[in-house]
Amino acid sequence: MKRYISILLFLAVLRMGVNAQSVTDYRLLFDKCDVGSGALRVECAFTIDFAGQDSLKLDFGGNFEEMAVDELIVAPDSIRYAFDPLAKRITFYRTGDDVVRVEMEYIFMNLTSVFMYNDKGAEVWECIYTDAAEFYYPMHRGMSYRGEVRFAVPHSMHVVSQGGSDATQWQSFDRCVALNFAFLGKLQYEMSTMQGNYHCDVYQLKGRQADEGRYNELCRLVELALQWFETEYGESYVCLQWGVHDYPAFVFHSGNASFNRYNMGFISASQEKFATYPDIYPLIHEIGHRWMGEYSMFIDSGTRGYAFVMETLNEFMTMQCIKDIEGVAVYDRLIEECRAAWKKIEGTERDVHPVDVVKNNNIPVTYRKGVVMLDSIARQVGYDKVRETIVRFYHECKGKPCLQYEDFERMCDFSL
Ligand SMILES: [Zn+2]
Repeated sequence: MKRYISILLFLAVLRMGVNAQSVTDYRLLFDKCDVGSGALRVECAFTIDFAGQDSLKLDFGGNFEEMAVDELIVAPDSIRYAFDPLAKRITFYRTGDDVVRVEMEYIFMNLTSVFMYNDKGAEVWECIYTDAAEFYYPMHRGMSYRGEVRFAVPHSMHVVSQGGSDATQWQSFDRCVALNFAFLGKLQYEMSTMQGNYHCDVYQLKGRQADEGRYNELCRLVELALQWFETEYGESYVCLQWGVHDYPAFVFHSGNASFNRYNMGFISASQEKFATYPDIYPLIHEIGHRWMGEYSMFIDSGTRGYAFVMETLNEFMTMQCIKDIEGVAVYDRLIEECRAAWKKIEGTERDVHPVDVVKNNNIPVTYRKGVVMLDSIARQVGYDKVRETIVRFYHECKGKPCLQYEDFERMCDFSL
């Protein structure tokens, strides 16, 4: 507990400067009644402490700067603020007291998500920390904050959120990354709960559910993978530092099949892929993102090593998990498949070093070549050594602002 508190303090100080500005005591209402698809009415209140400085900046807004935030009302009248939709930022200016309670009301349109999922009956609200970032309430990544959240939805909808209990009641939260949630039409989605140790909820599209064998395979793999990652990283999936209060729910949507996503608290993926693909290992990869991923490792898109840290390291760990669960023969086959995928682009313009992929836009390198390279190193220096290095990197650098590839490199006594 002591360590947890010191981590939070460390993060707060780093993100907000030595004068320890803070934003806390949030009260958030996400109202899905009487708004259209991809839209939310948000009522939001929080207390800001300028800590003697003239202004305080928070991330706020979405990708479609003209449209993301509409009908914005900010109170009290005495507060001065400037909302910059292009920068996705709202700045509050001190006009008197250091501590001010701010109230906001607005309509937020998450059009990025609508375009990604374009799915009748499902809306996924995820704060993506790349160029496509959506900050549907004012916050600052990495800054610890706490408050209460409630969802207002028509009876026809499920709410999938981190809390696990009734999301339409006020629930307290404690976080340093954004809240993610999903709305699913009850007419379209059927909910079931995994048996076993973790009780993960599974939402599937009615009429398109996976068969029993596939469903049981998901339960088996999720159970074993959660155990594996928790043991390997030496840290529970459930984690107050990131505001993860429960094991993940699975949301299988009919949107873009290439968007398997770890949404911090739930995992969203294609229903069709889940029901029909030869294997469902990509879902294990999403579980691994609880540790190595965008909500814990704050390396910015566009930075050297971005895709390597976010994806290659996680995919390598996923493969280690599969090796321990399914055996060496399966692992070796998957490594050979990776090698074959890499060979297809070898010598072409796309065949760059995995560390030089600065956006997640090069699948054969990030998910195949990079894994083959790490595997080759592991065969020489030992798998334990590579795994331990990745685990140590996670523990030493989670939550670190402006993470760099060099933070990983200096922990390695092998070179890529
Ligand atoms: Zn991934």
